[in-house]
Amino acid sequence: MRAAELDAVLYEPVAPAKASFAVWGTPTSPGAEWLVDGLRSAMIAHGHPEDSEATGETAVVINVVDHANPKPFRRKASPTFVLAVVEAPDAPERLIHAAYPYLVRALSNLCLYAVPEGDRLIAHFITLEQGVYRATTDPLLDERGYFEELYSRVAPLALSRLVIDNEFDPDLEPELWDGDDTTRAIHDAGQRLGSLNLLPAPFPLQDMLSEKDFRHVMRLYGIGGLSYGNVSARHDAERFWMSASGVDKTDMRVVGEHILMVKGFDADRRVIRLSVPPSVKKPRRVSVDAIEHWMIYREHPEVGAILHVHGWMPDIRSTEINYPCGTIELARSVAQLVRESPEPGKAVIGQKNHGLTITGPNLSEIFERVDGRILNQVPMS
Ligand SMILES: [Zn+2]
Repeated sequence: MRAAELDAVLYEPVAPAKASFAVWGTPTSPGAEWLVDGLRSAMIAHGHPEDSEATGETAVVINVVDHANPKPFRRKASPTFVLAVVEAPDAPERLIHAAYPYLVRALSNLCLYAVPEGDRLIAHFITLEQGVYRATTDPLLDERGYFEELYSRVAPLALSRLVIDNEFDPDLEPELWDGDDTTRAIHDAGQRLGSLNLLPAPFPLQDMLSEKDFRHVMRLYGIGGLSYGNVSARHDAERFWMSASGVDKTDMRVVGEHILMVKGFDADRRVIRLSVPPSVKKPRRVSVDAIEHWMIYREHPEVGAILHVHGWMPDIRSTEINYPCGTIELARSVAQLVRESPEPGKAVIGQKNHGLTITGPNLSEIFERVDGRILNQVPMS
């Protein structure tokens, strides 16, 4: 594939007319009904056709979730983006703890958790990466603007495209089967992240879901379990090592299981291609951010390593839309800021409501540069 064709795949946006939506479930309260009607009008006003019922072709499903009895919407096709809409009976003490289970139980990609404040229903958004932020428009003063804001916070995420499919070839060179100095550096980096307290505990998904739904969620989100952050390091001009999805980052040792060799991206099929030792029969998936790292390595030969943590640093440039992990759109918004950095080979880029992507010549240089400067709390807006 020529560079120009590849760029077309990577950079062309999704047209709203092609992205239809459907509402699933029935609102059980006047507040939920008002939210769903408002969202529906905003979607139609922006050119999205409404499907009478969700099919495999439906791009966005608004899943109306009953607070007392959340029901999952089961996708017919994995590219369907599911927004869970829940009206909370009252304001919870800790929003993420109250709302995150709805995001997961409804098998959704994003949760709109509406909390009553006086006569208002204030919309809060909860992402899989544990991002939480609230809408700022006052619905009593500007109802149209309120739904416009909700649309603007949902649409870019809903129209983004996941690159989570992996294809494994048993063609890794024998001398790399047991790893090399670079995989050992990745191992050490994982331990360092643990000691810096930069590996937040994931939500206990198993406890929230039935066995069947848990497997569904794993497939859906393209993850081997929720864990946050990832590490990669260049192997040669084309290839890089990267941490697997959902592994214990403090103990990454085995090639094909904890650390994978990314050898390319097939843009036509939107598949990440990996090389594994032939002895590994069931390799683990690579971290969902492989597409982002691939774009950065491809563009900047001086980048030798990339670290992604759910932490923050003051005075950095940040992406403006919090696209989901593993999407082309997140990858290209981060890649753009790396490109615009004074030193792309030593960049620190914020991912809004999410975390940091840090580039460097190698992992030890990255840790030296950011040592003591990463805040565990990510600002949310
Ligand atoms: Zn992340």
